[in-house]
Amino acid sequence: MRVLITGGAGFIGSHLSDAYLQRGDEVFVLDDLSTGSFENIRHLKDNPRFHYTIDSVHNQPVTAELVDQVDVIFHLAAAVGVKLIVESPVRTIETNVHGTEVVLSLANKKKKKVLVASTSEVYGLSTQIPFREDGNLVMGATNKGRWSYACSKAIDEFLALAYWREKKLPTIVVRLFNTVGPRQTGQYGMVIPTFVKQALSERPITVFGDGKQSRCFCYVGDVVGALVKLMDDDKAVGEVFNVGSNQEISIGELAKKVKESTNSNSEIVFVPYDEAYEEGFEDMPRRIPDTSKVNKQVGFQPQMNLDGILKSVIDFHSGQQAREYKASAAD
Ligand code: UDP
Repeated sequence: MRVLITGGAGFIGSHLSDAYLQRGDEVFVLDDLSTGSFENIRHLKDNPRFHYTIDSVHNQPVTAELVDQVDVIFHLAAAVGVKLIVESPVRTIETNVHGTEVVLSLANKKKKKVLVASTSEVYGLSTQIPFREDGNLVMGATNKGRWSYACSKAIDEFLALAYWREKKLPTIVVRLFNTVGPRQTGQYGMVIPTFVKQALSERPITVFGDGKQSRCFCYVGDVVGALVKLMDDDKAVGEVFNVGSNQEISIGELAKKVKESTNSNSEIVFVPYDEAYEEGFEDMPRRIPDTSKVNKQVGFQPQMNLDGILKSVIDFHSGQQAREYKASAAD
């Protein structure tokens, strides 16, 4: 199979590339390296079944050419990370809405199956825990930058489902819940790499708010397994699936766990949301997926628990610190 992965140099996209190459398939990556990194795909560069194009999905001729060459498309290119979204809402909206428009309209010309990566952010302020795919999405006010991400991804979902209903373009929507693992950067706000890097360098671990908000963290390898299976399943077309773990932990507890697992002397500090993001910032207090639909469809069941996840992230960042140290010593 020939697979196009937009955002393939990103954290999840690069692991998805690994999975398809390991299966013996051919992978085409399109990434503008805005939040992705060449480092994530460097190890694949010499594989004859791996091809990459450093460009934006907004570049229609380039994207069209790639769409022509492949059998299926994963659309992962998007502005991600709450910090980035709050700081650059224009870029978020334009990247997420226009990018998906381009990919879906080009895919439609050749009727190539598309899996669109969406996010648990779309549940917004919903309190219907655990979140089900057919539950209501509760958007916050438009003067809060954060919700532009939820809204832009909800539009992506509407568009993907509309292409299926109206034009019979096979599409699948996946809502990803706090995916974590090696290669994820803390640069755009993600909590686990941020805490791990803080702990490893003995800097304060910054818990935003009172730390009582909770999340469920899912290992990227488990998520990628689900994406591959959903793409292979013709009955998944036209459907929305939550993909994530339902092992819940508060962010305060997570900070303690990271500190313990790294044997760090870092202090755990509490930073008000207004200071961490912007004035009036609204967080989601709890975010737990109902994963019965994806479990029924493809037998999805996360294999890696939080301890295993943390170990993989700590190993990755310890290695990275050692590499950076070596590089600076050589300068
Ligand atoms: N968070 C935190 N400290 C940080 C980064 C994030 O306490 O340095 C919190 C954040 O406010 C949220 C949770 O950790 O409640 C998860 O944040 P992340 O950005 O990883 O993902 P989200 O679930 O918000 O999309």
